[in-house]
Amino acid sequence: MSRYDFRTPRLFVAPDLAPGGRIALDKGQANYLTNVLRLDAGDGVLVFNGRDGEWRAELTREGKKSVFLVVTEQTRPQHGACDLHYLFAPLKHARLDYMVQKAVELGASRLQPVITRHTQAARINLDRMQANAIEAAEQCGILTITETCEPLPLANAIAGLSAGRFLIFCDEDAETHDPVAALSRLPKGAPLAVLVGPEGGFAEDERTLLLTHPSVVRLALGPRILRADTAAVAALALVQATVGDWS
Ligand code: SAH
Repeated sequence: MSRYDFRTPRLFVAPDLAPGGRIALDKGQANYLTNVLRLDAGDGVLVFNGRDGEWRAELTREGKKSVFLVVTEQTRPQHGACDLHYLFAPLKHARLDYMVQKAVELGASRLQPVITRHTQAARINLDRMQANAIEAAEQCGILTITETCEPLPLANAIAGLSAGRFLIFCDEDAETHDPVAALSRLPKGAPLAVLVGPEGGFAEDERTLLLTHPSVVRLALGPRILRADTAAVAALALVQATVGDWS
């Protein structure tokens, strides 16, 4: 991605984007732009909808209360996301919020919660997860919105992986070995799934299931046990740096 204007506020919007288009703002968006950022009529923002690329738009007032945006010109064409699914055992609130945002910033195209034996937070607030994904997308400059999925039992999620997708299994029990070498053997740009387990780690039968997957890469993340949210950042950074879009 070329360097782009990350000082101008970015907003994810639903409507199609074309020159002269008028975009109504919901209460939260209007409050964010006018009260939090204290923007006024004529000030510019960047908008994207996941389909039409990124466009500049101007804040416009109509009467005292009503503000909306008028689309002017396209600043970046639409481009796709990495084909990188992030599978994870749900964590509790703040740690889950953090992990979702970091996965989006690190290029995950899909967030797939998986329920494992030692998962401690089986319920997930999907609206909250989606709001975190949108906020992360607005902040990190991507033009797509990461897909957020309903939780699945681990075995179902693994069975549902498309043929040809490599499963990068972050295994806290794996002997320490070079993660860069393990990942560098993968074809660059291949469809990937990265899996990080729960606070309680993986159960033995889950480990057996995962290690029999035809395209599994067992990844050790050093000699220490990382917290699941730390493992997420470490694993996704290694993947992007070796076979992803960081090079
Ligand atoms: N009890 C801690 C960590 C449990 S391990 C917590 O509260 O989060 C959580 C997950 O992180 C593991 O299932 C594994 O997917 C990953 N992980 C942690 N340390 C790892 C390591 N050294 N190598 C590979 N994966 C690791």
